[in-house]
This record gives sequence, structure tokens and C-alpha cells, in this order.
Amino acid sequence: MKKIRELKYDTVLFDADGTLMDFLRSEREALTDCLKALGLPHGDGIIEVYSRINDSYWKKLERKEIEKERLKVARFETFCEHYGFECDVNALARAYTDTLATKAYLIDGAEDICHTLYDSGCRLYIITNGIKSVQDSRFHACGLAPMFEKAFISEEIGFEKPDIRYFEKVESDIDNFSKSNTLVVGDSLTSDILGGINFGVDVCYFNQFGKSIPESIKEKVTYTVSRLDEIADIVLN
Ligand SMILES: [Mg+2]
Repeated sequence: MKKIRELKYDTVLFDADGTLMDFLRSEREALTDCLKALGLPHGDGIIEVYSRINDSYWKKLERKEIEKERLKVARFETFCEHYGFECDVNALARAYTDTLATKAYLIDGAEDICHTLYDSGCRLYIITNGIKSVQDSRFHACGLAPMFEKAFISEEIGFEKPDIRYFEKVESDIDNFSKSNTLVVGDSLTSDILGGINFGVDVCYFNQFGKSIPESIKEKVTYTVSRLDEIADIVLN
């Protein structure tokens, strides 16, 4: 039975990767499996290079400089070219996506904060820029899904965070949505936080690794936390 108490925010939109789910671990394991299967080198340095390349492609996607279908393969073209790996890049890209879909891990405190908010009567939603097959599978495997009303995956919505149309679609799909009672929580200043600010809701930046925040956005960030349990005080007030 849900216990309804006074909430500062009754609706919380959580980013998935890097916020509730440990994407870096999933990425590291999935890529290692795929490189091993091809007999290619797979040390930490190699994974880090791939991770940076991948991140740069997702930033391009946020800026609408590339389509998602192209991203899936282009990141591996750049990666293989960087190391001079000779392999079937399309097959590697497909194998990686399939393997990643099986890797679901939570960030410390993710389950606890979701339980706390859910038990207090908060409505929880996932807002994620991701590949539908990968995100659906990982979200259901990680154990959080029963506490969430819905996961909004950009590939289904047709727009990526921070595009305001992504957030407008989320708004139109949630009954009795009120901007003043909604909080966006995410680890990306360029997608979650900027998107939430432009849409007009309060935002909570999950700065797990203590990154510096550019002045241009700093004063617009409503809250910054370094641990997920700090979100309880913000939401429950
Ligand atoms: Mg994220």
C-alpha cells in the first residue's frame, strides 16, 4: 500500500544510464566480450578509448549532427580505424548492441532511492536517450521496472534529450502532469539538465564524479547531489 505524504515533487523523471544504471560497467563488459570473441585486444585503455569515441557520437546525436542508426556503426568504424583493427565492423556493431542489452547493473543507492520515492507516493518515469532494444532489456533486468510507471526511450519518441519536443511528448503522455511538481534527475548537463531547464522544470544534477559545472549553466541548476540518497530530502521536502 502506498503511503501518500506531502511531496515537493510528485513526479520524478530519472535518466537511466549514469544516473540509476551503471552504464560504464555494462559498456566495459559488453565490449570486452565482443573483442574477445573476435580475438582482438581488450585492455582497459582500449575500452576507455572506445568509451570516449562512443560518448562523442552521443553528443553529436544530442546536437542533431548524426542519426541514431548511423551512430550504431560509425562509433565502431572510428574505433577500429583508431586501432587498425581489421574486422567486420557491421557485425561487431550488431554483436555489441545485442551483448549490451544483456548487461544491467545499478548504481549504488539506486534501488533504495527508488523504493523511498515510490513508497512515498511519487510517480517515477525513466527518460533515456538510447537504443530501444538495449534500454528495454536492461531496464527490465535491473529490477527497478516495477516501481516505474513508464520508460520514455528516445528511439520510440522520435526526439532525443535535450530537444524540447522530447519533454513535450513526455508531458503529454503523463496524466495530470504539472511542471511545478516535476523534477528531472540526470548525470548529463547537456541532455538531462539542459533539456529540463529549457522545458521549464526543476532539475537535479547527479554529479557522482565531482565534475566542474560551466558557469553558463551553474546558476540554472536547481540542485546538485553527489549521492542518490540525497534526492530523498529534495523530493520529500
Ligand atoms: Mg545519463
